Amino acid sequence: MSDSDGKKTLGLRGGGSRPGQVKQSFSHGRTKNVVVETKRKRVVVPKPAAGKAGGAAGGDPSRRPAGITDSEMERRLKALQVAKAREAEDAAKRAADEKAREEERARRREEIDAKERAEREREEALKAKAEEEERKKREAEVAAERARQEKAKPAVTTAPQQDADGGAQTARVPNKSGLATPRKIDRERDDQKGRASKGRDDGRRAGKLTLNQALSGGEGGRHRSMAAMKRKQERARQKAMGGTETREKVVRDVQVPETIVVQELANRMAERVADVVKALMNNGLMLTQNQSIDADTAELIVEEFGHKIVRVSDADVEDVIDSVQDDEGDLESRPPVITIMGHVDHGKTSLLDAIRNAKVVAGEAGGITQHIGAYQVTTDDGAVLSFLDTPGHAAFTSMRARGAQVTDIVVLVVAADDAVMPQTIEAIAHAKAAEVPMIVAINKIDKPEANPDKVRTDLLQHEVIVEKMSGEVQDVEVSAISGQGLNELLESIALQSEILELKANPKRAASGAVIEAQLDVGRGPVATVLVQNGTLQQGDIFVVGEQWGKVRALIDDKGERVKEAGPSVPVEVLGLNGTPEAGDVLNVVDTEAQAREIAEYREQQAKDKRAAAGAATTLDQLLAKAKDDENVSELPIVVKADVQGSAEAIGQAMEKIGNDEVRVRVLHSGVGAITESDIGLAEASGAPVFGFNVRANAPARAAANQKGVEIRYYSVIYDLVDDVKAAASGLLSAEVRENFIGYAEIKEVFKVSNVGKVAGCLVTEGVARRSAGVRLLRDNVVIHEGTLKTLKRFKDEVAEVQSGQECGMAFENYDDIRPADVIEIFEREEVERTLA
Ligand code: GDP
Repeated sequence: MSDSDGKKTLGLRGGGSRPGQVKQSFSHGRTKNVVVETKRKRVVVPKPAAGKAGGAAGGDPSRRPAGITDSEMERRLKALQVAKAREAEDAAKRAADEKAREEERARRREEIDAKERAEREREEALKAKAEEEERKKREAEVAAERARQEKAKPAVTTAPQQDADGGAQTARVPNKSGLATPRKIDRERDDQKGRASKGRDDGRRAGKLTLNQALSGGEGGRHRSMAAMKRKQERARQKAMGGTETREKVVRDVQVPETIVVQELANRMAERVADVVKALMNNGLMLTQNQSIDADTAELIVEEFGHKIVRVSDADVEDVIDSVQDDEGDLESRPPVITIMGHVDHGKTSLLDAIRNAKVVAGEAGGITQHIGAYQVTTDDGAVLSFLDTPGHAAFTSMRARGAQVTDIVVLVVAADDAVMPQTIEAIAHAKAAEVPMIVAINKIDKPEANPDKVRTDLLQHEVIVEKMSGEVQDVEVSAISGQGLNELLESIALQSEILELKANPKRAASGAVIEAQLDVGRGPVATVLVQNGTLQQGDIFVVGEQWGKVRALIDDKGERVKEAGPSVPVEVLGLNGTPEAGDVLNVVDTEAQAREIAEYREQQAKDKRAAAGAATTLDQLLAKAKDDENVSELPIVVKADVQGSAEAIGQAMEKIGNDEVRVRVLHSGVGAITESDIGLAEASGAPVFGFNVRANAPARAAANQKGVEIRYYSVIYDLVDDVKAAASGLLSAEVRENFIGYAEIKEVFKVSNVGKVAGCLVTEGVARRSAGVRLLRDNVVIHEGTLKTLKRFKDEVAEVQSGQECGMAFENYDDIRPADVIEIFEREEVERTLA
């Protein structure tokens, strides 16, 4: 502040102290008070002096001259003197004031300086101490070394440097090979140390460093001599070890799984990584600490280091998972788990919805907004059925690929107005491969052109012989639209499930399979788990794939919290430490330590596997891989999806596309919004980016525009697959495509009677149009698609609202809206396809 040189007290207090405090507060907040107080005290000091001067001027007691000759003279003289004195006093007073002020300033400066100095000194003292210790250590080493050199006797103590660095390892018998590498490591370590202390010192205390350097004979020299010292030390130590067998050699039981990373092996032996790497090298294996070796190699090394190997297998690590066979007596029948499969547009979704609406929603107001990937229905006869709410082959295939068989029954949907189509055949193949019984639902029977018998005969060609054709496979004619045949279908399922005699033991620790998993903004990682055996309870500790957790909450398919979930019950599980993948198996274990151990073990295993497969992880690697094959022309793509299951399903579908000349290369596939790095990757390899129920975030959108990267959004996997197929074969034709015409952000959510929830929005881009389609995005993930029920500007229903304006919007049949959600407004139009 600028008042330091002007006003008196105020100026001094405010201006004088504040700059000091500002400086101080970097390291010390408290100084503020101290400064003010001390200053006050000091301010008092000069004042009496000034006061005294003032007193002299007024009373004039000391200055009165003694000589009295003439009263007149005396009076004049006196007057003169008084005047002079006054002048002088005034001057003195001014001077005193000035001096006092000056003193005050100086004092304050001093105080601040002192404080700074004190602090600096404290810091320096600390640093000096650290350096001193280091120096002592070094000196001790030098001394020890010298002693050793002189005596060259076996009674050598472990060098302090090593004690500090290497800990327990120092005393162990080094194998023959452990000579050169430790040296190198030590040097590196010293280098680092040198660098670190240099970095620290350079700032303020270059002098100290010089001293240090001088002490140790300059940097380069020091390292050389250190290295030499170490070498000698090592030799001496070895000699010593040879002489006395009583070294505190610790023989460890080293647990080694089927593969182990070098670093981890070193950890488990409590040996230095460098020594282990060296030992491997001596055995002809050039490996880095991050690479893995198999158990046999590990055994060799472990023995070389004088430890005992304890081999553990996957099963050993995961032994704690309860795998005891259930007693017949404990088994109770459980609901069947059903997956609906079939060709696109044959009515899988409609059928699922019809079943769900008929059986679940009945009597529930507001409709169902919860989507947890599976749900249960109860038939009129009281049978409970669990449906996987992911139509298509996605869930089925990817789970089966991961070894999780969750489906008991497949309902194969075939449209009666169509026939057996490619995906119908695929579904049949899947069901057969998995040895899961099938029920054929001949859908769209309400249509006039429906020809169910054609479907039946068509199926014969694929060795599906339905009952009506005197076969074994149940067939039911249904209409998802009219509801016809739905009950029969459910009865058939119930019947089939009876034949299967599905049983589970609800009393044991739960195991289940992940149907879907995602990272929820508010709730953290959430997994929909289908309990397959046992009962999952709140508070249970579990491991699921490479993740683990403790059940914080269980939410059922109706969105309600439940305390437990038994066999065949799908529940959302909260309380995971990370997002598992669809198909991962969940197991309840006893302790968090076990859960963590297994999860970590699996993670390591997976890492090793990926490393072994040479899976590309970095952009560079990806690109190198993509460019590998010259002969085959490739369509590189980047895929982002809303959930892991979709990403996997797309990945698998992509693998199947292509022939000898063309193939699709998924450069990267992941879960979540499309980000700038996705765009970067896509641009680098000229790939389009596919968003499945996700959107690009703003920076990514800008980057894509700038770099000319095409982003395509889909909400149906088959559309995506079809597009890629068409692109791969260069057969892109005109298509109906969506244009985003606007975005609006929800600012507030109101409840309006008769209307439901209304979103108070700001149109942030383009226009909001009443007639257009809308999607609700939460964190760039599509959570609803539909139409608008109302579009209001103030009180009036309007057709359009422009960017920058506020409006009210409500969705048709959808209520789960929240502030900060984004509404995407789109229209469909026919455009030329431009896929790269
Ligand atoms: P998916 O791709 O297999 O999930 O098929 P969808 O459930 O999306 O259905 C495709 C189209 O067929 C939609 O337009 C449905 O309305 C229609 N659809 C589905 N089931 C029936 C039905 O039983 N009768 C009639 N007439 N149309 C149906």
